[in-house]
Amino acid sequence: MKSTIERCAKLLLFILAALAFETRCPGGVEAAAAASNSIPLKVLILSGAGTHDWRATDSFLRQLMLDSGRFDVRVSEVPSGITASALASFDLVIDDYNGPRLGSAAEKALEEFVKSGKGLLVTREALGSFAGKRVWPEFVGMTKVSWPANATELGDAPFRLFELKTLHPEHPVIRGLKDKLRTGDQPRHEFALQTKAVILATTDNNEPILFVSNYGKGRVFCTALGHDLGAMQEKAFITTFLRGAEWAASGKVTLPNEIGLPEPSTNGLRVLVVNGGHDHEASFYSLFDGYNDIGWVPVTDSKLAFQEDIRPKYDVLIFYDFTRDLDEKGKKNLRDFVESGKGIVVLHHGILSQQKWPWWYEDVVGGLYRLERKGGIPNSTVKYGEEHLITPAGNHPITTGIGPFHVSDETYKGLYISPNVKPLLYTDNATSDHTVAWIGPCTTSRVVFIQLGHGHTEFRHPSYRALVHNSILWTGGKLN
Ligand SMILES: [Zn+2]
Repeated sequence: MKSTIERCAKLLLFILAALAFETRCPGGVEAAAAASNSIPLKVLILSGAGTHDWRATDSFLRQLMLDSGRFDVRVSEVPSGITASALASFDLVIDDYNGPRLGSAAEKALEEFVKSGKGLLVTREALGSFAGKRVWPEFVGMTKVSWPANATELGDAPFRLFELKTLHPEHPVIRGLKDKLRTGDQPRHEFALQTKAVILATTDNNEPILFVSNYGKGRVFCTALGHDLGAMQEKAFITTFLRGAEWAASGKVTLPNEIGLPEPSTNGLRVLVVNGGHDHEASFYSLFDGYNDIGWVPVTDSKLAFQEDIRPKYDVLIFYDFTRDLDEKGKKNLRDFVESGKGIVVLHHGILSQQKWPWWYEDVVGGLYRLERKGGIPNSTVKYGEEHLITPAGNHPITTGIGPFHVSDETYKGLYISPNVKPLLYTDNATSDHTVAWIGPCTTSRVVFIQLGHGHTEFRHPSYRALVHNSILWTGGKLN
């Protein structure tokens, strides 16, 4: 409950950090995963130097490949150390390195790897490395790419929108691909290709952007697409990169003809966050990102939320609000939702809501923060920044895999707690009630309350994130 302005600037940094964390943790690429074969293809990305933000792009490419379900991926940031034995277990090397030459031993190992029948994918960044400093004859032999003799870092076309013109529709990378894939990018250009290269796609200006060749028994796929993280989010890049990687690694393509960034499953739980009436950190909403089993989560305040019958639209409601009162229409719609056997998760200050509606706090949630002393019963108390040692109260699907954990959070003490709740978590902190999460007494819907959840410390904690996620799944009937 406590909120002070002086913490704001510091918290903003934490929020940004939390959001950055989320962007690195997408869920699975459902469409691609559905097409995956049983054994993942083993991939090594050569990284560690370049003119681009290679730490960010290689992390992105790695996750993209893992999400497809088709690849197992490692990244080498010191590619000059590769040897034949180090490469032996891989099916594909992705060259995204734009630094000094690797040295003759590493270069030889890469040549022999491809020659023996394995795959090589050369990224837009590595294509640029040909412009002078890194080129060696057999690399040209593998990729069929050459640059003008005086080239340095040529080939950065201006950013523009264009459609891929595909050629060789029978080639596995292109076969079945959607027509006219549109993208926004700065493709490499101005390089020359030997006639042995097979061009699979060009820009609308007929500049080659996807091309393949053979080297010994191996396959080489080169892409001039993917200037930066923005360009790498385009379906045209993702689809051709993943299909090109699969072909170079295996000679076959089983991945879908259109692949985008990860999306929640179409049959994921439909969740609505109800807020309003209480300040909180924006980092709270990071709790709902990156899961394949829940859909994109809308947010609305309680007054708007219950102006209509929301039973057909949502499976689980998350209450992170402090609602003083609802009108009769709002109460009816909330009651109808609860009585229809849906899911309810109440977090932290959500326990303050509906002070004048005993049905809600006695029969549904099973708890209330007492704002006022009543008769001989004192009001509840709050204390900011207390240390908790949290322990599961017993075995329950929500706490499975969650051991004791340590967080700093606000504590509530002296709540009204129904004798009919089933404890999920205890704390050792004496400024808090002993039970800090429970199953509510509701007989029609599944209800969970978690007292923890004031700020970013909890929102980033893996145990808290798992608790909230599991609570959504359990109350929504997807975890038993
Ligand atoms: Zn709070």
